[in-house]
Amino acid sequence: MSSPFRAPWQAALSGAFRQLPPLLEFLELEAAQLPVDLDSSFPLMVPRAFAAKMRKGDPRDPLLLQVLPTLTERLPAPGLHSRDLTGADGLIDPVGDLEATRAPGLLQKYAGRALLITTGACAVHCRYCFRRHFPYAEAAGDRLRQGLAWIREDPSLLEVILSGGDPLMLDDQALGLLLNELEAIAHLRRLRIHTRLPLMLPSRITTGLLERLDRTPLQAVMVIHANHPRELDAALSDALVALRQIGVQLMNQSVLLKGINDDVAVLMELSERLFAMDVMPYYLHQLDHVQGALHFEVPDHRALELHRALEAHLPGYLVPRLVREIAGADSKRPLAEVTKA
Ligand SMILES: *Cc1c(COP(=O)(O)O)cnc(C)c1O
Ligand code: SF4
Repeated sequence: MSSPFRAPWQAALSGAFRQLPPLLEFLELEAAQLPVDLDSSFPLMVPRAFAAKMRKGDPRDPLLLQVLPTLTERLPAPGLHSRDLTGADGLIDPVGDLEATRAPGLLQKYAGRALLITTGACAVHCRYCFRRHFPYAEAAGDRLRQGLAWIREDPSLLEVILSGGDPLMLDDQALGLLLNELEAIAHLRRLRIHTRLPLMLPSRITTGLLERLDRTPLQAVMVIHANHPRELDAALSDALVALRQIGVQLMNQSVLLKGINDDVAVLMELSERLFAMDVMPYYLHQLDHVQGALHFEVPDHRALELHRALEAHLPGYLVPRLVREIAGADSKRPLAEVTKA
């Protein structure tokens, strides 16, 4: 803890739902309506600002389904394809993160950019998370120093991607110190922040953060992770306007999720609303195979059909790239190219 002062977003975070009964009560639902798992090893965590966007009394609410621990997660993985397995760790580390680790907390898979795992913490626990089994606690903290040393020594790196967990879980002071280090590396040009915090705790976009990002000589990009148009509300819009005003480029990536956004109208509305908030749709990810999340999987042929329909209805710049991450590939790959469907 770098400061005894608690910012409003930190107070909001400590008020997040961490137990199912109060969340269900808030949503006017009965546990019996849902296949809930009361003692999942990946516990419930839902900020109130996110819960407030859910529809009361709807057990199929697409925002609720993203965060609700269900017994389905315990089912053994059916129908696994051998191409998704990278040895015995396939379902634990489906995208080869362990293999791509250059220093504790630093992953490099692609040319010119490296990903720094700044913290293991998140403001929300997403049931589909592909990193739910990654050993974050070991990657985070003071070992950032080794990742920074790696970046410093490789002049081919032009971009650093702050990831996690969620990098905006660091407070302004810790983030400022990290930026100081990155800004001192002459070959870096871009800073990219992947985060769900603006959606989960819009108050995280503090004046202090805005001032700090405004001062950075690096070109700043923020990728928010919205999966459904109803996540995009007025509080988020205000936070995004403030980021745009200081010149932060905004993009979105989503994960294609069965029962949540596997629908043309929903995906169209997501792109439309994002653009209305000055956010460019970037990626639509085909789900990574991870134990406990396979029930969210949309078959490849269906994913391609949805993407084709988006192309037929939207201007090209509102159609996110439909991709799958392949362990060992030199970029995220277009699904059309890598599927056998
Ligand atoms: C996804 C990812 C990136 C970013 O890829 P882009 O195509 O540039 O968005 C970078 N590094 C790692 C390790 C990744 O997993
Ligand atoms: S890393 Fe991202 S997807 Fe995973 S739980 Fe955290 S916020 Fe959700």
